Amino acid sequence: MNVLRTRLRPAEAADIVLGAVSALPAERVPLGQALGRVLAETVQSPIDVPRWDNSAMDGYAVRSEDIEAAERRDGTVSPVELRIVEDVPAGMFPTRTLGPGECARIFTGAPIPQGADGVIRQEDTTRLGAGTVRIDDPRDAGRNVRRRGEDIPTGSVVLESGTELGPAQLGVLASLAYPEVAVFRRPRIALLSTGDELTDPSDRDAILTGRKVSSSNSYTMVAMAQAAGAEAIDLGIARDDPADILARLERAADADLLVTSGGMSVGEHDHLRTLLQEGGAEPLFWRLRMRPGAPVGFGRYAGVPWIGLPGNPVSTMVTFELFVRPAIRRLMGHSAPFRRTTPVRVGERITTQATLQHFLRVRLTVEDGALTARLTGPQGSGILSSMARADALMIVPEDRQEIPPGDTLPAMLLNEPVHISLAPY
Ligand code: AMP
Ligand code: MG
Repeated sequence: MNVLRTRLRPAEAADIVLGAVSALPAERVPLGQALGRVLAETVQSPIDVPRWDNSAMDGYAVRSEDIEAAERRDGTVSPVELRIVEDVPAGMFPTRTLGPGECARIFTGAPIPQGADGVIRQEDTTRLGAGTVRIDDPRDAGRNVRRRGEDIPTGSVVLESGTELGPAQLGVLASLAYPEVAVFRRPRIALLSTGDELTDPSDRDAILTGRKVSSSNSYTMVAMAQAAGAEAIDLGIARDDPADILARLERAADADLLVTSGGMSVGEHDHLRTLLQEGGAEPLFWRLRMRPGAPVGFGRYAGVPWIGLPGNPVSTMVTFELFVRPAIRRLMGHSAPFRRTTPVRVGERITTQATLQHFLRVRLTVEDGALTARLTGPQGSGILSSMARADALMIVPEDRQEIPPGDTLPAMLLNEPVHISLAPY
């Protein structure tokens, strides 16, 4: 007998969803295709980076004792002249060991010759002819050398498994000559919209004449899945007909996660809720103590974890943000699935109508040095433009019905790159 849990807090629901998914198996991908993926191996450096002591400047590689000797003679700086024994551009290796009174012309990145211990920058010198240079200022004696291994020493752990690969991490892997890298497989998310009233946005005539409603969720859900790093499988729009729904769900069989929108309420056309409850294996839940987005369900369809989102466009996006996106991140191998919250100053009086946790769409501005939140307009769950104007979801606890301006509440920034391991709501 399946136990259907109901009236859960959003954080409890997130726990259940995240407990039902885990990182997918690893695969090797070329470095050029690894942006945004999560490392599935710990990378230890096989080499010192840089590979040899090299010059940080264009100038002259010198023995500092030659320069310091010149300086010491009467306590003041007296220019010293050095013999140039060779030229070392980047890409060439020095062939000579410097002896007393000798230097090498050198360029940024080129290996430092044996015997040299510093590079005098070009601006502090005067060339006296093909073979001689005068050092006008000894301030760089012993300096401007990038040491072998100063960036990454051989054997050190450079990147831990679970690290997201951004441009800097890919650069580090490239500097270690990694042609490809092990990352967790990209999750495949099957997305289905449901509703007899819906049509694809390309069906302009039906939408403009008001015969059909555009399935905006098909677009927000695919975009949110892709933005989170997943591959989206669009199952299209099902009619409110169990046969059509089931036929479309067949294409979800090899997905890692199934997400549906609509049909989760209590009406007699809400078939998805019935399917979830009848066919579902545990863990199962339906209906949360939140607004927007109460009729969220979770179960399985043919073994695939299934999150049933409500159809109202704002509810769909908010619940996708709270439950689907963290699940995608967990499947991708991230250890921190949730966006964090930031305290914001409430910029206007807020009144909520029900003892539910509210996720209000707000725009953030800095006023008198404080990050201040104002509603993006009416907060109905069908008002998608309120979402299009939002920077953040401001979280009002269940037990607060009146929030005066100036109070502080947590807000989840919708573009916040820092993630955390526990649900912040
Ligand atoms: P439901 O959750 O099926 O009861 O739908 C609630 C509301 O959301 C109704 O007004 C639907 O027309 C609307 N809706 C459902 N699915 C979508 C969708 N894919 N795109 C836009 N609106 C939708
Ligand atoms: Mg419907």
